[in-house]
Amino acid sequence: MIIHLKESVSREDAAQLAEQIKAFHISKENQEVLITSSGMKELPSALDGKVLDFWVMDNDMQLAARKYKNTTREVTIGGVTIGGDSKNTVLIGGPCSVESEEQIESSAQLLTKLGLSVLRGGCYKPRTSPYSFQGLGYEGLMLLVKMREKYGHSIITEVRDATHVADVIEHSDVVQIGAKAMYDQGILRACAKIKKPVLLKRGFGTTLQEFVQAAEFILSGGNEQVILCERGIRTFEQKTRFTLDLCGVAYLQEYTNLPIVLDPSHAMGYAYGVTPLAKACTAMGIDGLIVETHPTPTKAKSDAAQQLTHEEFTALKEEVSKIASAVGYKIV
Ligand code: PEP
Ligand code: MN
Repeated sequence: MIIHLKESVSREDAAQLAEQIKAFHISKENQEVLITSSGMKELPSALDGKVLDFWVMDNDMQLAARKYKNTTREVTIGGVTIGGDSKNTVLIGGPCSVESEEQIESSAQLLTKLGLSVLRGGCYKPRTSPYSFQGLGYEGLMLLVKMREKYGHSIITEVRDATHVADVIEHSDVVQIGAKAMYDQGILRACAKIKKPVLLKRGFGTTLQEFVQAAEFILSGGNEQVILCERGIRTFEQKTRFTLDLCGVAYLQEYTNLPIVLDPSHAMGYAYGVTPLAKACTAMGIDGLIVETHPTPTKAKSDAAQQLTHEEFTALKEEVSKIASAVGYKIV
């Protein structure tokens, strides 16, 4: 249950009531909010005379549910707004991993040339094998920071585990929680306490309910800027790396109020399918795409097969721009 308290209830009193009824408490500028388990179907008597409005929820998809808030939440990344009534589809581009200054600078220049402003690049890579390239870590993060200073782009990079969550939170404009880290409660709780956008990727064996509940960990701590990212789930199919769950996207658009970014690169796993998939995604009227591109994909230290050349990425932008405008959106 989500409860909005009357204006006459102070922040301190709201905190005390939350303690008493074992609820989460979010203190907004003009609104004290309490959130209990969705199992609660009737207002507790401790709140008699103190409630402005309340929502009885069907399950623990609560703050993210359209039943509570019917409009898509607005999230701002640097100079770009998605969600709300922006009708923007942000195209986030960059390599899988930051590998060198020369490489990430080449990607930053590509974005500038294309009028795009959100640069991706992994620094702490959650690889499937310990023998694979693990990322440049803090050094890579500082290279992204350098690109932001030089080109003015916003940067997005992934948190792999608790050892560097504070560094990523401090320096990145958007904190990416990867598919493998989606269940990491330490990361989710750390991201709940900040006021920065968080891109939460769906685990590849995660149901939509579990996915949204992971987002609830962040929302219930008071961070309203959560973006969901569908990046493919594991099915019986082995010819493609994963299976992009567009049915799931339709579900999330219908039932949740969170902006949705799609990742055709990791879903497909092969460059040849990334642009067609990106077009299909864009046709659904989505809030963003995240696409891997590398100056020389064949030499990439991670995800080489799926990264687009800069020429292919440029062509992708052209293609998805046409589709976006056909469905009333704009690539930004
Ligand atoms: C990535 O974005 O490079 C990445 C590792 O993605 P995912 O967490 O979706 O596998
Ligand atoms: Mn990757």
